[in-house]
Amino acid sequence: MTRNEIRELAAFQADQSKGACALSFYFQPDPPQDRSHRREAIVAKDVVKQALKSAAAQGKNGSLHADLDRVLELATNLRGNVRGRAVFACSAQAFWREYELPPHLGSTHIYIEPRFQLKPLAALLGAQPALSVAMVDRQRARIFDLRLHDLRERAAIVHMLSRSASSYGYNGYEAGHAERRVAEEALQHFKAVAERLRIDLEKGLWERLIVGCHDSNWPEFEPHLHPYVKQRLIGRFSADVASVSNEEIRDHAGAILEPWIRERASTKVNEALDLAKSNSRGVTGLRRVLQALETGAVQSLFLSENYSARAVECTHCGHLDAHLVQFCVACGNSTRELADVCDAIIPIAIRRDIELFYLRENDGLDRAGNIAALLRFRSDQTSGQVAAAS
Ligand SMILES: [Zn+2]
Repeated sequence: MTRNEIRELAAFQADQSKGACALSFYFQPDPPQDRSHRREAIVAKDVVKQALKSAAAQGKNGSLHADLDRVLELATNLRGNVRGRAVFACSAQAFWREYELPPHLGSTHIYIEPRFQLKPLAALLGAQPALSVAMVDRQRARIFDLRLHDLRERAAIVHMLSRSASSYGYNGYEAGHAERRVAEEALQHFKAVAERLRIDLEKGLWERLIVGCHDSNWPEFEPHLHPYVKQRLIGRFSADVASVSNEEIRDHAGAILEPWIRERASTKVNEALDLAKSNSRGVTGLRRVLQALETGAVQSLFLSENYSARAVECTHCGHLDAHLVQFCVACGNSTRELADVCDAIIPIAIRRDIELFYLRENDGLDRAGNIAALLRFRSDQTSGQVAAAS
C-alpha cells in the first residue's frame, strides 16, 4: 500500500446528498494457534450480515446494499487467510479498493460513514517511514521498497566477479594477482551500490534503510555508505542475497522496524511534551493541537491508543473546533458535531504527511490530555494565538 493510495482514501468524501456512503471493512485473521477453529470467516460474515440488516432497517438500500453483498462474498472466501484485509467501497461513486494488511488490526469491523474509516490503518502505518531494504553481497544487490506488508523490488545491481584464483588452479604470484583483482571488483561493486542508495535518497525514493548481508560482507560494504545514508540506517540483518525469500526479508525487516518505531515514538513524544512546557515547538491538548494543524505547523502527532473526543467541524470551511459551537468562528457558517475528532484529524495527517504515533500507556501523554504535537515552527510567531493559549 503506497502513500498515494492512502492519500486517495483520505481525500474521499461520499456525496451524502445523493445518499452515498463510504464503506470500510477491516478483516482481522485469527492468531495462528486458533487457525483450526476457522472462527475468523464466520465472525467476518456475521459482521457484514449485521451491517446489511441495519442498512435495510435505515432504508439504505441501493448502492450500499450492493457494496455489502460484495463484501459478504469476499468475507465468505477469507477462511484460512493469514493476513489482514481492508476494503474501501462506495459503488455510488464507482469506488472499490482492496488491500492486504499485516494481521494486527484489532478486530473485524465494518464502518458506514461519510468518509472512509482510516483509524485502524493510521494506527498501523502512521509512523511507517518510506523504508528501503538493500540486500547486498560481493557481486549482487537487490534494493526493495517495503510499505507495510508490500515488498517491491526497485533495483537489482549485478557485477559478476571474475573466477577466483583457486578455480584456475593458480598458485604463488598469479593466485595473489587474481585474488587482488576479485577484491578490487567487489570493492567497485560495493561503491556502486552505496552510490545508488545515495542517489535514490536524494531523489526522495526512501527515508530509512535496512541492510541485509552476510556478517563477513558488512565491514567491506559499510565504509562506502555516504554519511547521510548511514544516518538513516536503522538496522542490519544477516541473510544470503541469492537464496533469501521475500517472506524472510519482510520478517527480518519487521523485527528491526517495529522496535525502532516504538523507540522513536517515545523519544519524540517526550520531546514534544518538554517543548510544550518550555512554550516552544510542542503543543498539548486538543484545542492547541487543532490550532497548530490549521496553521500547518504540525510535524508529528501523538495520540493515546484509544483517544477519542467530540468536536465540531464547519460544513463550509472545514474549521475544527474543540468547543462545541453551533457556528464556525472562522466563517460564521453552521457546524456539524463529530462524535470522534480523530475521524477528521487522521485524514488531515495523512494528506499532509504528518507522522502519526499511537502510544500505549504513556503517562506523560495521558497527563497532557492524550494528544500532543511536535511543530515544525512556532505558530505564534505568525499568529500569537498559541502563546496566548499557553
Ligand atoms: Zn467555517
